[in-house]
Amino acid sequence: MNILSLNNISKRYGAIIALNRVSFDVPDGSIFGILGPNGSGKTTLLSIITDVLRADEGGFTLFEKAATPELRKHTGTLLETPNFYHYLSAKKNLEITANIKGKGLQQIDEVLKRVELYERRNSKFSTFSLGMKQRLAIAAALLGNPKLLILDEPTNGLDPNGIADIRNLIKSLAEEGQTIVMASHLLDEVEKVCTHVAIIKRGNLLAAGHVNDVLKNDDSIEVAAESM
Ligand code: ATP
Repeated sequence: MNILSLNNISKRYGAIIALNRVSFDVPDGSIFGILGPNGSGKTTLLSIITDVLRADEGGFTLFEKAATPELRKHTGTLLETPNFYHYLSAKKNLEITANIKGKGLQQIDEVLKRVELYERRNSKFSTFSLGMKQRLAIAAALLGNPKLLILDEPTNGLDPNGIADIRNLIKSLAEEGQTIVMASHLLDEVEKVCTHVAIIKRGNLLAAGHVNDVLKNDDSIEVAAESM
């Protein structure tokens, strides 16, 4: 089953064509990388599938059905760093987020375990490393147990330990069956973490499919490498 299918999505900002008839399918259980250099349209694409922006043309389906507000509740997103309170604990911060999002409080311990922060649940956010802060942000996106987790450049701005932490977390979530869509401008990251990839450059889809197929194609890898 495809968790997400994009169908000829186009978006312009005035004269700038941010996305030009982009179509691809995200299979159930995949870690799907959207790979492209800065300005290629990744954030615009994620904003459309999370309903922050509207496509000018084309559309998408979720779980092979028209994307209704009800179905969108089954997606969890991390597009921008959430504003956590530095002087409150990880658990308290998640309780506040759950209340704002209208999600139940009973699953907070469970999401803290999923991101391996349960042992540190009572520590203040200010004592967390960058990687731990990002894991807490991913925990917030996992509230409500979404079928699809959408992450925009999840390792951006992290130190090497934090990067390794987040990449391992993404892989371990996928092992539990979580489908993940993540934007990245790093070819190396997509090779290490993702099962599937769509390469976009200046709003155009260059290739999409299984990482082993797409990245073994010399033309795609050349374009990808040159653009990173
Ligand atoms: P980055 O990694 O730098 O965020 P990206 O791949 O996510 O890049 P987008 O942010 O989607 O790319 O931008 C795609 C194109 O659209 C770029 O040329 C960008 O300058 C332009 N753009 C994005 N948002 C706007 C906006 N609100 N108004 C005008 N142009 C925009």
